[in-house]
Amino acid sequence: MRVEKQEVKVGELAAGQALSLPVYRFHGKGKGPSVYIQANVHGAEVQGNAVIYQLMKLLEHYELLGDISLVPLANPLGINQKSGEFTLGRFDPITGVNWNREYLNHSLDIAAWYAAHSELDDDSLVAAFRTELIAACERKLDNVWGVTTGQWLATSLQAMAHRSDIVLDLHTGPKSCKHLYCPEYEREAAQYFSIPYTLFIPNSFGGAMDEAAFVPWWTLAEVAAAHGRELGVRVSALTLELGSQERIDLADALNDAEGILAYLSYRGVIAEKVLPKPMKRFGCLLKDYRKFHAPKAGMVEYVGKVGQPMKAGDVLVNLLRLDLYGTGEELTALKLPEDGVPILHFASASVHQGTELYKVMTKVFAL
Ligand SMILES: [Zn+2]
Repeated sequence: MRVEKQEVKVGELAAGQALSLPVYRFHGKGKGPSVYIQANVHGAEVQGNAVIYQLMKLLEHYELLGDISLVPLANPLGINQKSGEFTLGRFDPITGVNWNREYLNHSLDIAAWYAAHSELDDDSLVAAFRTELIAACERKLDNVWGVTTGQWLATSLQAMAHRSDIVLDLHTGPKSCKHLYCPEYEREAAQYFSIPYTLFIPNSFGGAMDEAAFVPWWTLAEVAAAHGRELGVRVSALTLELGSQERIDLADALNDAEGILAYLSYRGVIAEKVLPKPMKRFGCLLKDYRKFHAPKAGMVEYVGKVGQPMKAGDVLVNLLRLDLYGTGEELTALKLPEDGVPILHFASASVHQGTELYKVMTKVFAL
């Protein structure tokens, strides 16, 4: 198998240093779907790099049908944004915008585009649409008024991702169990990864890579279906949340690389049959994914364990207020309002009023 390494420039620092990232291309036989996998767009979420490492080691022993592009260390500026012991790296430090909300929302009128191209056969239509999406990213980068630092990075990554049929964006939560963001049109994908909890997301754009990759294709499929043509959604895009930030665990990374391999096997990217791990898997609709905010400030004991189901009324958080000792309000137990599974919690043990303490899946169902 041929493996090629490229350095792709995604920005420049003030003193002139280039910001670049490594892209590894594993060349397949051209008979299967192509794949794009990136990791570490949020600077502290490093485990995806270990998963890419383990996946590349595994891939050396398989027969590749489709091409796989792997982009670890996908945000060099965010990764290097250290403060004391910690990596900040979630927000562009200049604009404050979340690095994973900077992707291009295609303004293309897809109904009009379809009407102008509906005479094409399916393969030509798909190729023309792909070319259009990549060209829109290139136009954005060439804009005479310029783009922000974050948009430089995001749009450069997006232009690469649009070249593939399958896009996997590897993240982690702050303190988190593993969970998957999966578009509703591809529910069966959730059965393959080594991930117990899946959020099913609708066809709407909020700025993230997975949505940037699948929303135009989902919309194209809907427009075609409205004209009686079963094109199907030709691009899959999923976000894998691989545990907690600031953590590298190579054994766990191998487990997740094997899950990705099982999905790639199911999709015909590799010739060999790789079965998913037998495990219980659960789902939740995005509308039932609830954020629990601190009703007041304080020091936090996170009692709810991520990945462990809880009942309404169970204590989720103990909130300590040393300025209120002796008033009866020095210790408050905050209860979970509804049955659910805490998926992640805030990383710091001291919080302002209104801090998002937990994200909780409610109305969880077995897959
Ligand atoms: Zn992230």
